[in-house]
Amino acid sequence: ITILSIETSCDETACSIVRNGSELLSNVVVSQIESHKRFGGVVPEVASRHHVESITLVIEQALEEASMTPDMLDAVAVTEGPGLIGALLVGINAAKAFSFAHDLPLIPVHHIAGHIYANQLEEELTFPLMALIVSGGHTELIYMKDHLNFEVIGETRDDAVGEAYDKVARVIGLPYPGGPHIDRLSKEGKDTFDFPRAYLEGSYDFSFSGLKSAVINSLHNHRQKGLEVDPKDVASSFQHSVVDVLTSKTMQAVEEYKVKHLIIAGGVAANSGLRARFEQLARMHNINLHIPALKFCTDNAAMIGAAAYQLYLKDHFSDLNLNGRNFIDIEEYTH
Ligand code: ATP
Ligand code: MG
Ligand code: FE
Repeated sequence: ITILSIETSCDETACSIVRNGSELLSNVVVSQIESHKRFGGVVPEVASRHHVESITLVIEQALEEASMTPDMLDAVAVTEGPGLIGALLVGINAAKAFSFAHDLPLIPVHHIAGHIYANQLEEELTFPLMALIVSGGHTELIYMKDHLNFEVIGETRDDAVGEAYDKVARVIGLPYPGGPHIDRLSKEGKDTFDFPRAYLEGSYDFSFSGLKSAVINSLHNHRQKGLEVDPKDVASSFQHSVVDVLTSKTMQAVEEYKVKHLIIAGGVAANSGLRARFEQLARMHNINLHIPALKFCTDNAAMIGAAAYQLYLKDHFSDLNLNGRNFIDIEEYTH
């Protein structure tokens, strides 16, 4: 089964062709980061406009890279949400037109299911598993008994981790998106600030707004006193706090749910500190750890094609009334 997949939920215009949910035939990603940098974040209207400019070319290029024509495809898949509504609609309309023109079934995909299934591009998922989603808009622990069976056991009560990374980066004067810059700086600094760690005992929920405020207040106080702050130490201290909380709560969930497989997914799964600590913990606890290759951690369409294959097997199709949704409960996708 060969699926052409489209992803435009945020600031990447992406199209990919994936066979049987794992064999990558082509993968095209056009990033708009340069256009959003000067605003310090993604501007929805700008994002939509760029998607419109790129979408046709990106689809053509995905077909060309795979040396395929539309008649060789079995379905077309698209991210229906969550994401920026105007951005989503560009991908959805392109997918609908493609589906209609080439008489292909249309598969709507949940963006976060895509992030999880990015792992399927490297190896088969093994169940039951625990997935930690850490991205620009989400921080969630999801328990999966089987394919497309999602139980959200914890989520952030305020900021997502990626959002906290980007905000803290902005305060210390790093360009958007700040995650990779903080990650790089943190390797040269030390955990000298000892920022708070919100463990929220007794719950698998997360909270990162207190940490974000602590960083901002601490910088403010230092500057007011005319004291020097080393951004490397701020970055390192922030990252230590994040990594401590994420790894400790996740390992607790892994133990309680007695799973042997752990997936880390979403843009922040690219973080070197987080990867290193999870690798160490997984070895200690004899857990199989799965983290996608860096290019499959941040937004791409290959992950959407990987998830779409499972949806195809379960006859999860949509008609041409498909609409974008800025929020979709992933548990709705449970089959
Ligand atoms: P969502 O998937 O929740 O809809 P999104 O698609 O905008 O949000 P992703 O593309 O999955 O988010 O991830 C982008 C986020 O990942 C940004 O916040 C970015 O700063 C962060 N990020 C990327 N690389 C790293 C890294 N090495 N360390 C920390 N954060 C990172
Ligand atoms: Mg992005
Ligand atoms: Fe994403």
